[in-house]
Amino acid sequence: MLVIGAGGAGLRAAIEAAAAGMRVAVVCKSLLGKAHTVMAEGGIAAALGNVDPEDNWQVHFQDTMRGGQMINNWRMAELHARESPDRVYELETYGAIFDRTPDGRVLQRAFGAHTYRRLCHVGDRTGLEMIRSLQDRIVQLGIDVHMEVTLTRLLKDGDRVVGAFGYNRIDGKFVAFTCKALIMATGGWGRIYRVTSNSWEGTGDGVGMGFDAGAEVLDPEMVQFHPTGMVWPPGVRGILVTEAVRGEGGYLTNREGKRFMLEYDPRKKELSSRDVVARSIYKEVQAGRGTEHGGAFLDVRHLGADKIKQKLPSMYEQFLRLADVDITRQPMEVAPTIHYAMGGLRVEAETGATTIAGLYAAGEAAAGLHGANRLGGNSLSDLLVFGRRAGAAAAAHGREVGPGKIDERQVREEQQTLLLPFTADGTENPYLLQQQLQEAMQDGAGLAREEKSLKTCLDRVLELRQRSARVHVPGSRRYNPGWHTARDLRFMLTIAEAIVRAAIERRESRGAHWRLDYLEKDPALGRVNFIAYSDGGAMKLKTRPVPELPPELAKLFAASASPPAPQPPAPRPPQPQPVRR
Ligand SMILES: Cc1cc2nc3c(=O)[nH]c(=O)nc-3n(C[C@H](O)[C@H](O)[C@H](O)COP(=O)(O)OP(=O)(O)OC[C@H]3O[C@@H](n4cnc5c(N)ncnc54)[C@H](O)[C@@H]3O)c2cc1C
Repeated sequence: MLVIGAGGAGLRAAIEAAAAGMRVAVVCKSLLGKAHTVMAEGGIAAALGNVDPEDNWQVHFQDTMRGGQMINNWRMAELHARESPDRVYELETYGAIFDRTPDGRVLQRAFGAHTYRRLCHVGDRTGLEMIRSLQDRIVQLGIDVHMEVTLTRLLKDGDRVVGAFGYNRIDGKFVAFTCKALIMATGGWGRIYRVTSNSWEGTGDGVGMGFDAGAEVLDPEMVQFHPTGMVWPPGVRGILVTEAVRGEGGYLTNREGKRFMLEYDPRKKELSSRDVVARSIYKEVQAGRGTEHGGAFLDVRHLGADKIKQKLPSMYEQFLRLADVDITRQPMEVAPTIHYAMGGLRVEAETGATTIAGLYAAGEAAAGLHGANRLGGNSLSDLLVFGRRAGAAAAAHGREVGPGKIDERQVREEQQTLLLPFTADGTENPYLLQQQLQEAMQDGAGLAREEKSLKTCLDRVLELRQRSARVHVPGSRRYNPGWHTARDLRFMLTIAEAIVRAAIERRESRGAHWRLDYLEKDPALGRVNFIAYSDGGAMKLKTRPVPELPPELAKLFAASASPPAPQPPAPRPPQPQPVRR
């Protein structure tokens, strides 16, 4: 069995498939232990009820659905809420050690739009602990890991996925894998935008490959803007400032020292959902109350230096090293940054099966759980719950089918595509096209969108697609990042087109999708998801009804129309502080 991606979703899937007796290979673009999962800071959401005993899976389920503005796949949200606690405890059996309560249980912290304190964490380095323990397990199980290999094309035998083709990033040699089942766990696509918390790996390859092979892409328009990325200096713009800062009691102020979230969401304040907080910062900046570099201040000084260094050590170091700001003495300057893709490959809730036989997906590459907006902490638990499920289902599928036949014609086609930048006599520079795409998406399909900006953006994306056929790369296939960028660009253009096409059609504001020309929700659009698919190579869009909640789960929403507001540790009343920079 083949797993593409060595983040939390890929590793958890590989562990499950190996435990089911399959021979598993994991492939990743960088080194084992990198990926976005290792960057996760704030924590894993699971209703353990260790700090707030009232918490349970039903409340977690409701929070997730409400956060997603009810266009989530309810069954995924239910499975996720029910199974996350077991997955966290299981991670402990792999060696993870979370922060503890005084009586020795897993400690949980508050996070935006979670009713109770629910995020299991290790300071602000949770992803590191998670990837470390999963990686140890992979090594113990003797699973093969192929590092620094980029796969670019799924190979099909008839309608079934039977392998994948790509190249080794070091020497540029082509590689092919055959498999009985394939799990796509390639993460998200933040790099399509200029300002992002994502690393160079987040170019949407897996979703692009799935789309090219005929799989459906669900909710592409739903792109999450995390409210707090770094702003200054320019070289660090977009780097994440974890929500744990607000979970620990940090608050936001504008240049006048006013704590503006008291106005935008008096109940949840800074712990409102990410879409609400991001829009609030945007509005403050638009109203001329932003900081010098176009953001807001995020202040933790009232927590005291000891607590800051203990609970937010990475943030302390990040600001000190990258911005020369000591957050125990000065506020942080923050602004929204592209962070997460709610959209991705459409999967079946129970199994992670996509619409193509033999192809499964999990983690950020899959869609459905988070609807129009993901709650913080719900990604790491998503990786564990649905990584495990996809691993089990793919293994079961693998036991049922015989080996597929590799079609040499498909291999030759992909070789030609990959080699085109060396042979074509074009003059286009892949870096420049990537940069122009990022600018186009940031300007036209960003936090605030409208028909005109989206249509202009679509024209630019289509023009860039045409120009991408004329990309030229000098040198050879050895250590050639320009060549890598040329192939990434194709996936980025596919995803960008899907985002913009769906964003044009969703003529309403819902969750992360904020349309300045349609500020309200449209109840009719709240009943559908948008799906992008390939029709003979051309991108088409269709809608699909949002799966209807069964009565026993629908009842939960009627019973608790107004849940209690999230509770961070009580901060001192906010004192507007003079800003020393
Ligand atoms: C800075 C930061 C902080 C975060 N904090 C939190 C948090 O506290 N809590 C939370 O729940 N979520 C958090 N998130 C979100 C969460 O970390 C990610 O959504 C999640 O880790 C994605 O995991 P994944 O396994 O789906 O993909 P990733 O971890 O992104 O892994 C993708 C893998 O796919 C491989 N890959 C990609 N393309 C190819 C290709 N073409 N060929 C071969 N391999 C390929 C990559 O090399 C990588 O190994 C954070 C994200 C960031 C960026």
